[in-house]
Parts: sequence; C-alpha cells; structure tokens
Amino acid sequence: MAPIMSRIAIIGAGVSGIATAKQLAHHNPVVFEASDSIGGVWSHCSYRSTKLQSPRCDYEFSDFPWPDRDNSSFPSHLEILDYLRSYAKHFDVLKYVRFNSKVAALRYLGNGEPPANGRSPGEYGSLLAGQPVWEVAVQTNGSETIQVVIFTLTNMHDFLLLRLGFEFVVVCIGKYGDIPIIPEFPEEKGPEIFEGKVLHSLDYCKLDHDASTHLLKDKKKLVVSKFIESYLLHKLPLEKYGLKPDHPFVEDYASCQMAIMPENFFPEADKGKIVFKRSSKWWFWKKGIEFEDKTKIETDVVVLATGYDGKKKLKAIMPEPFRSLLEYPSGVIPLYRSTIHPLIPNMAFVGYVESVANLHSSELRSIWLARLVDDKFKLPGVVEMLERTQKEVEVMKRTTRFYKRNCISTYSINHSDEICEEMGWTSWRKKSWLSEAFSPYTSQDYLN
Ligand SMILES: Cc1cc2nc3c(=O)[nH]c(=O)nc-3n(C[C@H](O)[C@H](O)[C@H](O)COP(=O)(O)OP(=O)(O)OC[C@H]3O[C@@H](n4cnc5c(N)ncnc54)[C@H](O)[C@@H]3O)c2cc1C
Repeated sequence: MAPIMSRIAIIGAGVSGIATAKQLAHHNPVVFEASDSIGGVWSHCSYRSTKLQSPRCDYEFSDFPWPDRDNSSFPSHLEILDYLRSYAKHFDVLKYVRFNSKVAALRYLGNGEPPANGRSPGEYGSLLAGQPVWEVAVQTNGSETIQVVIFTLTNMHDFLLLRLGFEFVVVCIGKYGDIPIIPEFPEEKGPEIFEGKVLHSLDYCKLDHDASTHLLKDKKKLVVSKFIESYLLHKLPLEKYGLKPDHPFVEDYASCQMAIMPENFFPEADKGKIVFKRSSKWWFWKKGIEFEDKTKIETDVVVLATGYDGKKKLKAIMPEPFRSLLEYPSGVIPLYRSTIHPLIPNMAFVGYVESVANLHSSELRSIWLARLVDDKFKLPGVVEMLERTQKEVEVMKRTTRFYKRNCISTYSINHSDEICEEMGWTSWRKKSWLSEAFSPYTSQDYLN
C-alpha cells in the first residue's frame, strides 16, 4: 500500500462513500473499499434482473444529471453502476479510493470526550482534532496481513510504522450485502439434512450467467422471502395469491420496508410458474421445506432471501465502549441529522438512514458533513443532540408498529428542510411559490 497522507478516512466506496469523498475532496480523504470496485450494492449485491425501484431522476446527484434523465424506465443495476462510475470519474474521486482494502477494526485513541477544541463544555467542537483520534486496521487484497500506519500532521516519516491514524472517520459501509441473515432452525431440521442445494441471495448474486443457469435450470426452486407481503394492495393480485398483509401498507412505507416486484412476476405466477406459500415458521426436511401447518414442499434448490445484517457489519469494526453505545438509548442508532452519533467522537455515518430516495439522502448529508468539518456551522451540545434524535425516533415509531431501523420515509422533506436551515441554506428550494406549492422536490433542488 502506497503512503497515505490524509486526516480523514472514509470506509466504503458505495453511493455514500463516493458522495462523501467528493464533498470532502479539499481534505484529500482516503477511501478504504473492501472490494475491487466502487458502487457498493449495485456492484456486488445485485442480480441480473435487479433494477432501481424508481425512475432515474429520483436517484440522481444534484450536480450530475443522468445522461437520459427523462427516460422514465427504471435503470438496471449495470446502468446505475455506469452512472456512478461516470460521477466518480467526472469529479476525480477515484484517486482517493484504495480498493481491496477492508477495514478490519477501528481503535479509539482519544479520551472519550466529544471534540471540544475551543468550545465550551458540553458543546461539540471541531471534527478535525489536530491529532489522530482513530486508528484504522486495514486488510489488503485478501491477505491475512493487517497493514496499519500512523499518520500525524506533524510527522510525515511515520508512514512506515504499522499504524494508520486519522482525525476523523466517516463510516459508509452500507446496511446491505456482506453479512447475510441466516434463519435459525430447530435441531436436526437445518440445511444440513436437506439433500439439495441451499444458498443465500448474497451468494446467488455472485454467480455469473452460466453458473446461475446451471444451478436453476429445470430444477424445483424455493425462495424464502418476506418482502412479498409489502406491495400496494390495490395494484396487485395479492388476495388471489393469499399474500394480503394484515396491516395497512402505509406502515411498511413508514418503516422503509416496501419493495417493488421484478418484471413479469405476477404474469409468471398466473402461468403457475411461481407458487406462493405463506408461513412464519418453516424448516428443512430431506427433500425440501416443511411448514408449521405440516405441509411439505419438495425442492432441489432453496434460496434464502432473508436479508442482511447491517448492524453486525458495523459492530464488527467498532470497538467498545462505542459498540455498546451504537443503539443507545432507543434500540435504533441515534444519529443526529442521520449522521453524527452524539456519543461517538470524531466519527460520522453516511448511508444509515433510509428514505424514498437514498442517493439524495446520502448526498445531502455528505454536503452537510463537509460544511460541518469546515466549521461553517456548529453542532448543538451532546445532550441536545441525543434528545432531538430520541424525539425523532418516537415520532417515527408512532407512524408504524414496524419501525426498528433508521428510516425517515414520510418525513424526508422535513429532514432535508432542517438540514438546509442548519447549513444556512434556505429550505425553500424552488424558484417560485408556484413550483414550491405544486412541483415535486428532486435532488436538483438541492444544488447550491
Ligand atoms: C438489491 C438492492 C436494491 C436497492 N434498490 C434501491 C432503490 O431502488 N432505491 C434506493 O433509493 N435504494 C435502493 N437500495 C438501497 C441501497 O442500499 C442504497 O440506495 C445505496 O446504494 C447504499 O449505498 P451505500 O454506499 O450507503 O452502501 P453500499 O452500497 O452497501 O456500499 C458500502 C460499501 O462499503 C464497502 N465496505 C463494507 N464494509 C467495509 C469495510 N469493513 N471496509 C471497507 N469497505 C467496506 C462495501 O464493499 C461497499 O462497497 C437497494 C439496495 C439493494 C441491496
């Protein structure tokens, strides 16, 4: 690994990491990316059929329009990757990225106090502390060696030491991919007794065309998933297939648990090629899956579309006592402006809040963060930040019984308004009252 001269480390080069790198470019950040590509989930967590769930103009950087932004079709994951690569190239972000560099652990070097540089007690000070606060352990290119180098502003020769220290770390490792959730099964009813093949959707994503065709062609397949309960009831034949949820869909929306079906999903069901079985408990038997009502399905391949453990991924690199503080006090990570944990010094999190437009959420927060790093505005005190985040969680919990992760769906615009005002921007982003009242907000409205 070539010498690194930076005060700021960004972990992850997905949408959030490259947006943050662009906004902090004047600080020459270093971006550690575990894989060999930028793009995150669009690069290594997508199937051939994966598409954006909205038109491209709703997944767009404010200063980098899609080449064909008025095309109303939903872009494929490859088109999204192309778009992200063009963005990174256009803004010369790739030079900051260290590929095949997985952050294996973080170690805190400070005294646990929030940054107070020049501020009165209880207030949050500058994020660039003038000395390393976090030590980052990086595993490169699949090797078992962890290369760590200490960097301080004052001692450039320390590059050769095996420690890498930063004043400020931005965590952009995403909530999906990397660590699959594997359900637990009763004893002797797990995948080990099944004679067919079991794989998680994460492994399925890694198969190329030939391998996935070979795996599934002419086989009986069973996909275990939860998301099919969450589609707009009036648009889809959910009742016909016994998939009607027991709750209003608005609760799924408010907890960011909506998903769009792939093309031809229900037409294929009409042909009898997809059969649904609704059950909350299930386990394996020799030839397939058995459900709690004792019915059995025979199958050759079981794909576990059971989701990802984003919290485990984050906890794996966070040291104590911060690991235990992650979900304190409400069970949801208390992130001020969805970015700063009031009790974790000199660290920010981008990409942790889910909304109707995740790219826009990450970009706006990275703009806010860059201005904060540059001391363009100050954060409130720790107690106030904790109180405010707690209140936000309570409001969200009132909108849905299923709220259990950082999600602002129904309040996205209010959050953006508050962020703009805190940065000293106007929250009225349109050019006229008329468009303010009648035209929808897009990321381009946030171009400063
Ligand atoms: C299948 C799928 C479909 C989606 N569809 C939509 C959609 O239609 N609309 C929408 O708004 N959102 C959608 N999302 C949500 C999507 O996650 C966000 O839009 C966005 O891409 C997240 O970007 P990110 O950079 O925050 O995280 P990620 O894309 O997950 O990127 C994180 C990066 O960090 C790297 N990394 C992780 N751990 C480490 C480590 N320890 N060290 C170094 N690097 C590390 C990873 O390799 C990865 O490149 C979808 C997600 C998935 C999985």
